[in-house]
Amino acid sequence: MAFTTEATEESSTEERSDDLLGPGKAIAATLGSTLGPNGLDKMVIDRSGSVVVTNTGATVLDGLEIDAPIGRVIRDAVQAHARHVGDGTTTTALLVGELLDAADTLAERGLHPTSIVDGYARAASHARDALDELSVPVDPDDERLREVASTAVTGRWDAASARRFADITVDALRSVDFDAARLTIQAYPGGELTDSERVKGILVDLEGSSTTIDGFGTNDRRALTDPTVALVDGELTPPTAEASGTVRVRTPDDLAAVREHERAADERLIRSIADRDVDVLVCQKSIDDAVKTDLARAGVLPVERTRRDEFDAIARAANATAVAAIADLDRDALGTVGAVRRRSVGGGVIELSGLPGESHESLLLRGGTPHVAEETKRIVEDCLAVARHAAHGGGVVPGGGAGMMVVSRAVADRASSVDDRSALALEAFADAVTVIPRTLARNAGADPIDALAALRNRHHDGETAAGVARSGAVGDMFDAGVVEPVAVPARCLETAVRTASLVLRVDETLDAEPAGSGVAGDGHHGHAHGGDDSHTHESGHAHGSGGEHGSGGHDGGYPWALSH
Ligand code: ADP
Ligand code: MG
Repeated sequence: MAFTTEATEESSTEERSDDLLGPGKAIAATLGSTLGPNGLDKMVIDRSGSVVVTNTGATVLDGLEIDAPIGRVIRDAVQAHARHVGDGTTTTALLVGELLDAADTLAERGLHPTSIVDGYARAASHARDALDELSVPVDPDDERLREVASTAVTGRWDAASARRFADITVDALRSVDFDAARLTIQAYPGGELTDSERVKGILVDLEGSSTTIDGFGTNDRRALTDPTVALVDGELTPPTAEASGTVRVRTPDDLAAVREHERAADERLIRSIADRDVDVLVCQKSIDDAVKTDLARAGVLPVERTRRDEFDAIARAANATAVAAIADLDRDALGTVGAVRRRSVGGGVIELSGLPGESHESLLLRGGTPHVAEETKRIVEDCLAVARHAAHGGGVVPGGGAGMMVVSRAVADRASSVDDRSALALEAFADAVTVIPRTLARNAGADPIDALAALRNRHHDGETAAGVARSGAVGDMFDAGVVEPVAVPARCLETAVRTASLVLRVDETLDAEPAGSGVAGDGHHGHAHGGDDSHTHESGHAHGSGGEHGSGGHDGGYPWALSH
């Protein structure tokens, strides 16, 4: 982590750098060693004592107890970035640290923060142009998509697993036309990573969606072949006597009569379902307990409280129309699938396969412990995000820091044609982005300065794909299969510049007056206040969604937010 402290040494006398620039550099220093294929894992232990071992920048940041307000602003911005792009958290954090470091030096040389911010903004726009020019389009069938996916996950698994998961992810995505809403990812502890599989169908998690079923054996081989599927978009209860008017119960006989009436209504309901040859009844809300038992007895598999997205997916895949009530259930509304079977993973899963309608795929991920399962899911989600970005977001660029070298050259070129002071900020930016190839080299055990010199030579000779390979040597990244969607480095730079600028514009942090409620401050609601309201709004927003991210990963909500 020497690089992050190098430049700060002389400037540490500046009060500003300790308070405002320090946290960004500290975050960068913490994450530096996790970058790239040789990145090490971090063990994050939170206050409650739970332990997560991860190599994902976003997860490390999640677990860090960051007290400095500026540190939290940076963490939130970087995490918001990760949710959008699916990759590049560490890169972004390192860039923020380096840009702040450079700004520190520039400020010492007398450049006003506003000029630095302006210079960075100009540099970012030149960077974007340079990356666009470098990027190569890929079509959905391109083999490069697998490379994109495996590049995004190297360092987080062994090479064989990275390949395999990249392959199943890209294959699954292709068969749903890159539509994230038609790809379900479920991760379960237990089993081995290698037991993970791609399922050509829909998986309904019986626990996660709080679906409960009766009358369907737990035996894995138990399956229904070519079942008829009915969907009820509501709850299923028999019409009760109370519901049909006021009932006066005066004697035990009256009560018996009411019960009998209800039983008859229930029976009619069951019969009307069974008469329609329904084999599987998927209900979006709950099914009355007695009805559920009777349905199972009549040979109908009841699935209740199906999550909305799963419910809709089943309707489209089975060519079924959801109805509001059983009475509306005519032949046309019924759908069918090739098979429905129960799988005994997690709290139980129902698999619908052989879909006649819209295709749907699922990835059933396994990992020894809940942590491994969750981490696996996060990594697969990153594979998905980058493959989608590459196919739809303007193509790919060589990885291994090659893109940043191209950016560095382009920005430095521009700096030489600028004759005001902002040239200094452009030059500083051009140097700052080389933190990526330098760190990749350092993590591979190579000398960062030598690597940078070699890279500069190659790029000078027009080898725009030259980057730092896994071995630490400089080589052609396209040849090595190290490619990333142009959106990743582009957004990393964009987020980093926006975040660094936000920090640079702040000249002090003030604690808001505690609300007169008498509630003691816990040190966690101090917010950074810049002079400009939009900044606090921005950070507040990012923070809010950061919280969602933390809990949204495993419970409630669609398991990923990449389609937004
Ligand atoms: P981030 O959180 O920024 O995605 P990673 O640890 O995933 O951090 O590292 C990403 C960097 O590693 C990118 O610059 C990418 O190009 C590079 N990289 C990934 N795989 C390789 C590889 N096999 N050889 C060289 N560089 C690689
Ligand atoms: Mg990555």
